[in-house]
Amino acid sequence: MEKTHKPEKQQQKFVGAHVSAAGGVENTPQRAFEIGANAFALFTKNQRQWTAKPLSDHSIEAFKANCLKFGFLPQHILPHDSYLINLGSPDAEKLEKSRAAFVDEMIRCQQLGLHLLNFHPGSHLKKIPADQCLERIAESINLAHQQVPDVIAVIENTAGQGTNLGHEFSHLARIIELVEDKARVGVCLDTCHLFAAGYDLRTLESCQDTFTAFDQIVGMHYLKAMHLNDSKTELGSHTDRHHSLGQGMIGWTCFDYISQHADFNNIPLILETIDPQLWPDEISRLRGETGHQTSLLSIKNKLA
Ligand SMILES: [Zn+2]
Ligand SMILES: [Zn+2]
Repeated sequence: MEKTHKPEKQQQKFVGAHVSAAGGVENTPQRAFEIGANAFALFTKNQRQWTAKPLSDHSIEAFKANCLKFGFLPQHILPHDSYLINLGSPDAEKLEKSRAAFVDEMIRCQQLGLHLLNFHPGSHLKKIPADQCLERIAESINLAHQQVPDVIAVIENTAGQGTNLGHEFSHLARIIELVEDKARVGVCLDTCHLFAAGYDLRTLESCQDTFTAFDQIVGMHYLKAMHLNDSKTELGSHTDRHHSLGQGMIGWTCFDYISQHADFNNIPLILETIDPQLWPDEISRLRGETGHQTSLLSIKNKLA
């Protein structure tokens, strides 16, 4: 079978989508493979519940075996934590509960042999000042680091909806500043959230400006992952509504820029776009493949 020709710039691109873990986490590698991905994201437990059964030994072994079988490396797999967790909660009881749940999420990652855990920083709920909330978030990360080795806390930038922090690069920089183990903290930039937060991405120039600002305020070496989503809402809307690539207010210029720029090499680039039917085409364009037909053929060969 002939190898798909790829432009050199895209050979180190690891692109996938957030795939379903229905039936067990061990099913995720095949689901990612079937859409032509070489990276993926998943929930390791139900994202809308506080607690979950521990992962079974069978699930853990099958997950690792399937990652090997379908060619996924731990550094290209991005687990996402539960939506209920607020590591900056102003309420002592909720903060305690969130911190325990976060440690449990980290343990699950470690059991699966994974190194990254993607999470939304937290919300002040108008009950504490923003800076105090950022301090709590950093303290939550420090506490988790003390309890679980290896796993990197990957802070996601937000759209700034409601009282969610993390929509300004300065918020991300402040959290990182307060984290003791800098080797185990990083950032996941979500393009839809960037745009909704007021960082323009519509032209090459605006992409350069936005990522230069990120580099100056946070540091490009902290970039551990990206979420690639177009936005249904306007620049600075502070409203988080994902769209398929090229169909929203951002447009393909930004996604082609990311696909061709070395700053985004060797990290998971994850789609959370709204139409899974389009994922194979979105992935193949981002990976610089000439056509999706080729990837479908190689998938059939590998599954046979
Ligand atoms: Zn996201
Ligand atoms: Zn979002």
